[in-house]
Amino acid sequence: MPVISPGPYTKTLIIGEEAKKNACKFFSEEFSSKKGLVVCDENTEFIAGRDFPDLPRMTFEGGAVATDINGDAAALRLSEGGFGFAVACGSGSISDITRYAAAKAGIPFVSYPTAASMDGFVSSVAAMTIDGRKVTLPSKAPVALFADPSVFSSAPLRLTLSGVGDILGKYISLFDWRAAHYLMEEVLDDKLIDLINRAIDKMLALDPEDAGFSIAVMEGLVMTGMTIQYHGSSRAASGAEHHLSHLWEMHCMSEPTDALHGEKVGVSTLIVLERYKSVPDEDLAAEYIKPEFTRENLFHIYGSLTDGIIAENTPDPLASLTREKIKAAQPEINRMVKVLPDTSALRDYMKKIGALTTLDEIGLENTARFKNLSMKYAPYVRRRITLLKILNIKD
Ligand SMILES: [Zn+2]
Repeated sequence: MPVISPGPYTKTLIIGEEAKKNACKFFSEEFSSKKGLVVCDENTEFIAGRDFPDLPRMTFEGGAVATDINGDAAALRLSEGGFGFAVACGSGSISDITRYAAAKAGIPFVSYPTAASMDGFVSSVAAMTIDGRKVTLPSKAPVALFADPSVFSSAPLRLTLSGVGDILGKYISLFDWRAAHYLMEEVLDDKLIDLINRAIDKMLALDPEDAGFSIAVMEGLVMTGMTIQYHGSSRAASGAEHHLSHLWEMHCMSEPTDALHGEKVGVSTLIVLERYKSVPDEDLAAEYIKPEFTRENLFHIYGSLTDGIIAENTPDPLASLTREKIKAAQPEINRMVKVLPDTSALRDYMKKIGALTTLDEIGLENTARFKNLSMKYAPYVRRRITLLKILNIKD
């Protein structure tokens, strides 16, 4: 069973039946006389009221969206109300709003996830949408996480399946980390890679009908989130699959959709996996075209966001990559591709459990052109090296 150890920021981690009780004990022991504010949304307000009846609440209505405006409103309430700590009672957006607001107000916060839906609960960066662009802002990780199965196992199945998509994405993020090691000598942490692989295996070994399934999903999500604290970056948790999802969330090549983060990651994982599977038949060095981060190349996709993308890629993260290095790395990359799961088998598994697998199911254009444009331009949303970033993708 994977071991989740506390990290440098999140020093208390409890996933289990005793989590709810321990959360209340933690508040009185750690924060004693300080006032706490529970941040929630319309869907999780009843959980906040039931589990923390003594704490005042701030409820976001109409679906909480992690924007700087909502984050600022929460920060203002925390500061003006003289609160000493905050509790994020919800899933993705509530976590990001709370972590952003608590950092701004200069107080600690505690994560109380209500669904096993994504891996950012213990993250130290807030994924916020600002001026239409999805950005990650330096923020604060929670000082503690209390995930009680009696709470998150009752979440709608769709949220848990979104968490499954986020975990399956680790096949690609871990692959990309190793690929960056062979291409650019990036340093690996085999222990972290092993922990995440074991978390994936544990989840896949269980039937989604099993009582332990959502617990395994939550453990996997918290585990991968904690690797960000252990490693100091999201390297292990986010690769090309997350870059596609971030590009779609920037809404520059598609309209906003109702799809959840993990649903998008699940679909992008299948797209990237399918592309990677053809790599052993290609001569990567011969086909490599060095990307040019010019306005002309990027503007037709990124529009008004182009300058931000150019800044992200300056200085050029691929500057030291040569055809010789790619040639030398290809045998290892081919070997790694062979041990990636079979695309159809993974798609079948996702379909069987009810997870989304196609672009149209997540509200996006299901065409080869959209897929190729996504793969060609998504790698530039972050300067991180992925295999996708060096592949020759025709649009
Ligand atoms: Zn994710």
